[in-house]
Amino acid sequence: MKACVVHAARDVRIEHRDTGSAGAGEVMVGFAWGGICGSDIHYFEHGRVGDSIVRNPMILGHELSGTVIATGEGVTGLVPGDKVAVNPASPCGQCAYCKSGDTNLCTDMQFMGSAARQPHRDGGFSEVVRVKASQCVKAPADADLQHLAMAEPFAVALHAVAMAGDVSGRTVLVTGAGVIGQMVAVAARRAGAQRIIMSDVSHEACDRAVQLGIDEVVNATDASVVSALTATPRCDIALEASGAPQALDLAIEAMKPRGRLVQVGFLPPTAPLHLAKLLTREHTITGTYRFSDEFETAVHAITTGEVDLRPMISAELPLDAPEAVFERALDKARTLKVMVTFE
Ligand SMILES: [Zn+2]
Ligand SMILES: [Zn+2]
Repeated sequence: MKACVVHAARDVRIEHRDTGSAGAGEVMVGFAWGGICGSDIHYFEHGRVGDSIVRNPMILGHELSGTVIATGEGVTGLVPGDKVAVNPASPCGQCAYCKSGDTNLCTDMQFMGSAARQPHRDGGFSEVVRVKASQCVKAPADADLQHLAMAEPFAVALHAVAMAGDVSGRTVLVTGAGVIGQMVAVAARRAGAQRIIMSDVSHEACDRAVQLGIDEVVNATDASVVSALTATPRCDIALEASGAPQALDLAIEAMKPRGRLVQVGFLPPTAPLHLAKLLTREHTITGTYRFSDEFETAVHAITTGEVDLRPMISAELPLDAPEAVFERALDKARTLKVMVTFE
């Protein structure tokens, strides 16, 4: 079978690997669609994501859907032909965080397509993927497999909004108009946000946000627009989805007293921040990391048509030419989500 393997920065190859077979409790899934994530792009561009460095060849990918091909011993509830979304997270189930349901904070996590551990955990960009049955969330027979492959990033957005507390009826600022920012906006709307304001420094990204129906789009490079946003703060909640320190500053400036900010984007390791308003406005800042049971919620929201994430798809490309896929994904001005499949 074909697999998309990263060896180092700018070195991603299609290789042939043994397909293997399903062990006890495991399922073989035929790959249908995958989504290119920011972390895949980082592995392609830099050979690393933060401290997770590619030291051995690793199959990329953690956003995928497929069809069950075979099931191993003891697997119930899944049969060949079933459409599934694959949850890339495989928490240990034993640690204190797993036991309290906060599996995203597991101290012994196996996450597909991540070089955080040695040996690396292979990802799902291969023609056949072997996973635990518990990682498969079954979808209805008429589910759109491409849309289903967007469950993972939407689960990230659902968890981020959950970390914001009650957003219903609130004015929510989302900084960063990339894929995660857009997914967060959809999740906030679903949770009842009354008004969504989105900021970005790119004209193209702002135009796209308008097209996607964001209530109010702010170009953060326009000083007069920014000062209007911060002079009289009117945002109850901010979700910082860009990872830019300037955006975090803006979010704090734009939040009303007792505002709550959720950091969704990866900030640089050392970032100069302006936190003086934190004290006088009694702001709360929290992080958000991956997702726990939001994955099932994401699959449900997608397959019932409660949300439609497909307008975020910018390109559908064959994974057989990975260079072209990643070059397109790197072209952020023209691209939100790149979806891939094998020819
Ligand atoms: Zn992702
Ligand atoms: Zn655990």
